[in-house]
Amino acid sequence: MFNSNDTTFVFSKAVLDWFEEYGRKDLPWQKNKTRYSVWISEIMLQQTQVKTVIPYFERFMGRFKTVVDLANAPVDEVLHLWTGLGYYARARNLHKAAQVIAQDHKGHFPSDFDQVLALPGIGRSTAAAILSLADNQPYAILDGNVKRVLARYCAVEGWPGNKKTEDQMWELANALAPLSQREDDKSSVKVNYLEHSNYTQAMMDLGATLCTRSKPKCEACPVISHCMAYAQGRQNELPHKKPKKTIPTKHTYMLIPIYQGSVLLNKREPSGIWGGLWGFAECDLDDSKLTFAVHSLEQDVGEQDLKREPLDGFRHTFSHFHLEITPLLLHLSKAPALKVSEDTKMWYSFIAPYDSKVGLAAPTVKILKILRENLNVAGAKI
Ligand code: SF4
Repeated sequence: MFNSNDTTFVFSKAVLDWFEEYGRKDLPWQKNKTRYSVWISEIMLQQTQVKTVIPYFERFMGRFKTVVDLANAPVDEVLHLWTGLGYYARARNLHKAAQVIAQDHKGHFPSDFDQVLALPGIGRSTAAAILSLADNQPYAILDGNVKRVLARYCAVEGWPGNKKTEDQMWELANALAPLSQREDDKSSVKVNYLEHSNYTQAMMDLGATLCTRSKPKCEACPVISHCMAYAQGRQNELPHKKPKKTIPTKHTYMLIPIYQGSVLLNKREPSGIWGGLWGFAECDLDDSKLTFAVHSLEQDVGEQDLKREPLDGFRHTFSHFHLEITPLLLHLSKAPALKVSEDTKMWYSFIAPYDSKVGLAAPTVKILKILRENLNVAGAKI
């Protein structure tokens, strides 16, 4: 375990010196940083790589320049700009949190840790990252990258998602950050303590660029001299993996009424899987349920005996189950007479897909892409 009495080596100094030379300093969210822009980037970066996030961040900030712009936008538009990033609860929480900030903080993103932590969708590490990166406030972070660095540097046993292991890692994160070294004052090496923002960014960069999940580049690492995993040759073993559990497989039809390049989409309930997004009606793989679901759609579109055409199925995997999806086209022979509220159902053009600013679930995007790519075939059939 990490030896806190070692006064000959200062972790944060080594990390900051490395950052000075090799750290990332030109990412879009590092320019004109505010708590708002850092917050948006931090939420987008959860479970998503930097290169994927960049265009989403730029589009999002271009549209919602302030937290109040975001609060006042329809949630459909927020989800539309999120389509493709996945984990849509993040977008819904951003929208909710922006409304809390607009109402309770007069539109100013709070600077107090507890107030930030109280916002929807913001956990301890994200609150710390926002205040550290935007304001230089001395809070340590513990995101996935930092967990990996610390688990290796200090040879932490156990899966970091386990509460006890995570608590231990928070202690280490705080002990190694510049603030605690200032309080202990055990070191003779001076660190510029105003650089907390750089330290936080440096820890993220170290995990993302050197201490990577596989094949870490230890020879280039600024803390190799005191890294316990390196000394013990255990870089590939640490951090310990999540104990394996098999996840169940579910099956569903996605029912796709289609007419001349447009398909009928439904708005999903605001919470739950793909909450608030638009997608196809679903139905279990059961003949009587299918008959009932198709009949209900036939009533919606005003035509009986829609011609059915199954497409190739595919699998979508969530963290807790696999979903085997069988898309089923339901061809209309004449212009539909949709008899339901357009708030919950709409005809969506897959030929001009950006006309409707709504969020789409990943399998919906996939099916629309298949239809677009087979436009001639689909066009011939409808
Ligand atoms: S020496 Fe290797 S394993 Fe240790 S912190 Fe650096 S990159 Fe990670």
